[in-house]
Amino acid sequence: MDRKIKNWGNYPEIISNVKSFDTSGMVEELFKEEKHWIARGMGRCYGDASLGENVLSTLKYNKVTFFDTQSGIIECQAGFTLDEVLQLAVPKGWFLPVTPGTKFVSLGGAVASDIHGKNHHKEGSFSRHTLSIKVLCGDGKIYNCSKTENADLFEATCGGMGLTGVILSVRFQLRKISTSYITQKQIKAANLDELLILFEKYKEYTYSVAWVDCLARGKHFGRSILMLGEHAEMNDLKGAKAKAPLKVHSEAGLNIPFNFPSFVLNKYSIKLFNFAYYHKNFKKVQESTTHYDGFFYPLDNIKNWNRMYGKPGFLQYQFVLPLNQVEGMKLIMNKIAEKKQGSFLSVLKVFGPQNDLISFPEEGYTLALDFPMTGSLLKFLDELDQIVQDCGGRIYLTKDARMNKEFFHKSYPRLEEFIDIVNKYNPNTEFRSVQSERLSITR
Ligand SMILES: Cc1cc2nc3c(=O)[nH]c(=O)nc-3n(C[C@H](O)[C@H](O)[C@H](O)COP(=O)(O)OP(=O)(O)OC[C@H]3O[C@@H](n4cnc5c(N)ncnc54)[C@H](O)[C@@H]3O)c2cc1C
Repeated sequence: MDRKIKNWGNYPEIISNVKSFDTSGMVEELFKEEKHWIARGMGRCYGDASLGENVLSTLKYNKVTFFDTQSGIIECQAGFTLDEVLQLAVPKGWFLPVTPGTKFVSLGGAVASDIHGKNHHKEGSFSRHTLSIKVLCGDGKIYNCSKTENADLFEATCGGMGLTGVILSVRFQLRKISTSYITQKQIKAANLDELLILFEKYKEYTYSVAWVDCLARGKHFGRSILMLGEHAEMNDLKGAKAKAPLKVHSEAGLNIPFNFPSFVLNKYSIKLFNFAYYHKNFKKVQESTTHYDGFFYPLDNIKNWNRMYGKPGFLQYQFVLPLNQVEGMKLIMNKIAEKKQGSFLSVLKVFGPQNDLISFPEEGYTLALDFPMTGSLLKFLDELDQIVQDCGGRIYLTKDARMNKEFFHKSYPRLEEFIDIVNKYNPNTEFRSVQSERLSITR
């Protein structure tokens, strides 16, 4: 059925022929109807990666096919979500090995974007914990692949944005936990230089991420709150928490029922929010024990928060720069502060070493910011791209809806190798998205 679809940034919106399936046989039948497809999970990528002429929604293909509660190995169909994994695994003392900032992501989407979390500097991205996947490719065959079996297809599918085929199932290793709580330490940093020193000092923490006020200037430039966390043990819990140590998250409390008018978000309201957020903690260091839901997914508590950006939508800009490019990071943040093009939530993280075929993470600093969609935004982001390119960095495909192909081809040095693998398993470029065409990945 043809219908309008868009992803989390509400930009772009296109009309697609959207089909669902609940058996792999149905996918094979659909392949006979149309030549070109792209898989789509929860639509939590921000831009156009899971949009295309013909979209295969995976959400009805969502069974758990294996779960060993002793070893923590689980296998699920691709439409099963991280939210559902948590509901099943947490009461049995298991947690996700890597989680993004929302739990409303399908497992297929998690693999196709090779998602990273707050533990990347120590534990890498999702593919490091993925034992095997089944992929239905355009040549009509279902491949089991892993780091040792059909390893080229495995590597190209992790982070390959759905272009190697439809991921049917994912087998991965969960992380053992004693409680569903996190012992959290929040440290205020007066500016960017102090924040980078703190990241280094606390690098042994499993989880670390910083919220940065990208609009502050002068001596407050880059003021931030560094958030550190470890899974809590039983003896860290008191009272009600100790009585229900493996409590699962609950439903979202608030809902934004309609798009906000565009004037609600402006340079003054964003500046005010950033100021208030920085000053919410009175103390320099604040420690608490908090549920995993509040630590990892604060925004999930507000359903449809993306409607705050109004009908035109927004773009998320996430880039990574090598560790020695701090000056480049400052240049970008200065441009944002000067332009007053700031964002409510600007998140800075340190990535550990990773050098995969097409996955986004590489060792360095990554900053993610949301920008309301305005007439001048695209030109401004092109200027930021130039700095990212000069510093040897790159942009995260799952957040992208506008990068130009020349920059993309320069910044992903193993792209041709990736395209060769895509073509080997998909002789007629069966999988293509609006993004893959815009970036000339598929021709
Ligand atoms: C609030 C928020 C916070 C986020 N935080 C992070 C973060 O911290 N770290 C991070 O890495 N990401 C983060 N993301 C991005 C998100 O994790 C990824 O975009 C993820 O891929 C979304 O999964 P999805 O199921 O919604 O997939 P979709 O958005 O539908 O698709 C994303 C990509 O996966 C492909 N795909 C989906 N299912 C399949 C399948 N079965 N087979 C083949 N390809 C498939 C699509 O073709 C597309 O290329 C965040 C997103 C939001 C909205």
